[in-house]
Amino acid sequence: MSSPHLIVAGSGPVGVVAALLASQQGFRVTLLEEAAAVDTNPRAATTHPSTLEMIARLGIIDEFIAAGLTARHFEFWDRVERSRVARLDHALLANDTPYPFVVQTEQHKLANIGLAHLARRSGVDIRFNARVAGLTQDDESVTVTTEGPSGQHAVRADYLIGADGGRSTIRKALDIEFEGYTWPERFIVLTTTFDFEAAMGCCHRTYFADPDEWTNLFKVSGDDGLGRWRAVFPTRVDETDAQALDDVAVQARLKRVWPREALYPVVHRNIYNVHQRVAVRFRQGRAFLAGDSAHVNNPIGGLGLNCGIHDAMELVDTLHAVAFGGADATLLDRYERRRRPQNIEYVQQQTIANKKRLEERDPVAREARFAELRAIEADPVRQREFLMRSSLLESARKVQSID
Ligand SMILES: Cc1cc2nc3c(=O)[nH]c(=O)nc-3n(C[C@H](O)[C@H](O)[C@H](O)COP(=O)(O)OP(=O)(O)OC[C@H]3O[C@@H](n4cnc5c(N)ncnc54)[C@H](O)[C@@H]3O)c2cc1C
Repeated sequence: MSSPHLIVAGSGPVGVVAALLASQQGFRVTLLEEAAAVDTNPRAATTHPSTLEMIARLGIIDEFIAAGLTARHFEFWDRVERSRVARLDHALLANDTPYPFVVQTEQHKLANIGLAHLARRSGVDIRFNARVAGLTQDDESVTVTTEGPSGQHAVRADYLIGADGGRSTIRKALDIEFEGYTWPERFIVLTTTFDFEAAMGCCHRTYFADPDEWTNLFKVSGDDGLGRWRAVFPTRVDETDAQALDDVAVQARLKRVWPREALYPVVHRNIYNVHQRVAVRFRQGRAFLAGDSAHVNNPIGGLGLNCGIHDAMELVDTLHAVAFGGADATLLDRYERRRRPQNIEYVQQQTIANKKRLEERDPVAREARFAELRAIEADPVRQREFLMRSSLLESARKVQSID
């Protein structure tokens, strides 16, 4: 008898993690990706301790850490005063995790490392240029139709994971509502080789509060390993994409973070819509949603992709328990019971609060937020509690107690 077969739609980081774990657990895996290769545009990079534990389980932690930068601290700054408000230290989590730090490795590197491992395994079929166009299912199986340069194909399997991103075809085909809202402003990401740490003394992951325009600044290693900084800003609501991406506007934005005479060397610019949305269901029959197909959020705090990887691990473990471990199929509903409330409580709520903290306009409330951050820094017990939550360790531990 052949082993259970899983289809994963999407070779983003969530799809690749799901496919790799499933293959390691004995599933036959078909990974279907619409594009010709993994998307290398700058997107998520911050990988929290809870997620590093999962990447270690996959056996790729050394490669993953080597491909990025390690950040023990993160900081909050007052951008108006250009002064540090608080510095938080992941070393306080040394008794909670083997990884008391954050790793800034670009998400395409995780996907490509995972794919390289997957390609060496038997029972794995990886198809690029294969867009999942639709699906049907019955009590026994699920069948997807793919479209691509080689025409239309049908693939039948025991289960399907839709890891096909925020615009998920699978979610739409299942007619699952994506509940929530879209922020009126867009976010602009500017990548520069200018060294902010040397210039202003900030660390590799720094959040700047400013009532007029907040900024997130973080360093990644880049494909060349030479290091570069990504600066994320909100656009003005009335600003067009062309205005925001214009050279003069780009330089002005960067100079509001740190003024300098010379032009900033800008190596990449990108603008995108930002949402807070959660699918009303994560499962329908033999089809499941994971990662951005199930939930999207603003990137302040670097939580969305981390939560997506947590989804992938939980889902594959659950499928394994049913397909190989003899657990009753009703266990499959536990995936949604575990992952959907975690996303709402730890990711939606925290990212909305993080945004509010950075953009607070009321001077009294703004000072109160700074005072709270200083008090958290000063008290190791409170600081550890804050870090347990911000690193999703609390969520990852709590979820195990949900039946
Ligand atoms: C422009 C942008 C910038 C971002 N910046 C940040 C950031 O700075 N920090 C942060 O924490 N998060 C950021 N995010 C969010 C983060 O990138 C996502 O949380 C993460 O990519 C989710 O991974 P995923 O694998 O679920 O989905 P994705 O990475 O979107 O991967 C989905 C994959 O599915 C494929 N696909 C789509 N439809 C189909 C189909 N029908 N058939 C087959 N394949 C399909 C896509 O081509 C893609 O490869 C950003 C997102 C965007 C869009």
